[in-house]
Amino acid sequence: MTARLISIDEARARVLAEALPLSLEARPLAEVLGAVLGGEIVAAHSVPPFDNSGMDGFAVRAGDTVEATPERPVRLTVAETIPAGTMAGRVVQPGEAAKIMTGAPVPGGADAVVQVEVTQETQGQVLVFEAAKRGKNIRRAGEDVMAGDRVLKAGSVLNPAEIGLLASLGLATVQVHRRPRIAIVSTGSELVEVDQPLGHGQIHNSNSYSLRAQCQQVGIEPYALGIVADDYEATKRLIEKGLEYDVLLTSGGVSVGQFDFIKDVQDELGVERRLWGVAMKPGKPLVFGVRDRTLVFGLPGNPVSAMVSFELFVRPALLRLMGYRKSTRPTYKAVISEDVVNPDGRVLVMRARAWREGSVWHVSSTGAQGSGMLRSMVGANGLAFVPGGPRGLKAGEEVEFLLLHEELTGP
Ligand code: AMP
Ligand code: MG
Repeated sequence: MTARLISIDEARARVLAEALPLSLEARPLAEVLGAVLGGEIVAAHSVPPFDNSGMDGFAVRAGDTVEATPERPVRLTVAETIPAGTMAGRVVQPGEAAKIMTGAPVPGGADAVVQVEVTQETQGQVLVFEAAKRGKNIRRAGEDVMAGDRVLKAGSVLNPAEIGLLASLGLATVQVHRRPRIAIVSTGSELVEVDQPLGHGQIHNSNSYSLRAQCQQVGIEPYALGIVADDYEATKRLIEKGLEYDVLLTSGGVSVGQFDFIKDVQDELGVERRLWGVAMKPGKPLVFGVRDRTLVFGLPGNPVSAMVSFELFVRPALLRLMGYRKSTRPTYKAVISEDVVNPDGRVLVMRARAWREGSVWHVSSTGAQGSGMLRSMVGANGLAFVPGGPRGLKAGEEVEFLLLHEELTGP
């Protein structure tokens, strides 16, 4: 390898420089989880749209109930019953009450609702055992959202609460950044699909599945274009197909082996290289470039290298394409539990178990860290960045790590 290695941060910056938010599309509300709003949302109507009852009970004129006590209840005539979804038929007159359900419109004349628990209904009448203040148990029109309110800004990420709010405003579709279309190509003459038995010298194509799942975690269903043997022309044909997508992920063939010709194929197909070689392990031979607007990632073939490269470079790019402003996960300082040697000049991206004791994070290696050992990723909820150098890190020292997800439970 002759390329000058660049730092992880520099590599990510070069990737993100090419990852601009994709165009907007109208998407049904049922499919917008995790999408980013393309424009501001202004409420076309108020929520709730009308004054309604916050309780099952009786709509009354508060003035009629001022004398009511548990010992001396006030007696009112029940003039009608108002289920949710129904308008009252009449105005509540002095001495009257309307039986009302939660969410039903408050009838004219009434200015309070007495909850059913402090009443007793008998033969068309109701005894009220508690005085109700004006406005009691009434949810006012617009108390959540007023018509004309600017409820969500462009760039908002749509999570369940935002989606519920949009639904309450009657928006069946919303303008969001479209998701990137992603192609996954697995290179290697030794690869067979997971449903095939292994012949001599063969291994299952695991990268296609781990990378697919990593895409799914950001809400994207990628297209696996399959396995291509280490044959130049066949590789070129499949990569050409992959270049029709917004993002192409290949795995394997980016190192210095005799059959590692992904870079040559990229060159021939007009992919403009932005980087080759990152000062990290695993993941050193990552190659990245662009053709037209397609982001082209040549991920290393080793299963852990591919996953770590996805996490550090591909995922942030995908989120940017989807319109996210912040696209990297949080990093923290942690106390490392064991001595780690890393004499090499490259940063060791150590797969780690991370947990918090009080306000202090701790990390511990998940075990053997070979770049082909997927079990080092299994059980890892963090990636710790161990600097290269003769000294390494000693137990109890501080290390920076990236939190993949909150602490794991169980053994
Ligand atoms: P390469 O970068 O092509 O030299 O591959 C490096 C290592 O990763 C080799 O041991 C390959 O067999 C392995 N490898 C490459 N592609 C895959 C894949 N899709 N699934 C699992 N292992 C792979
Ligand atoms: Mg290979």
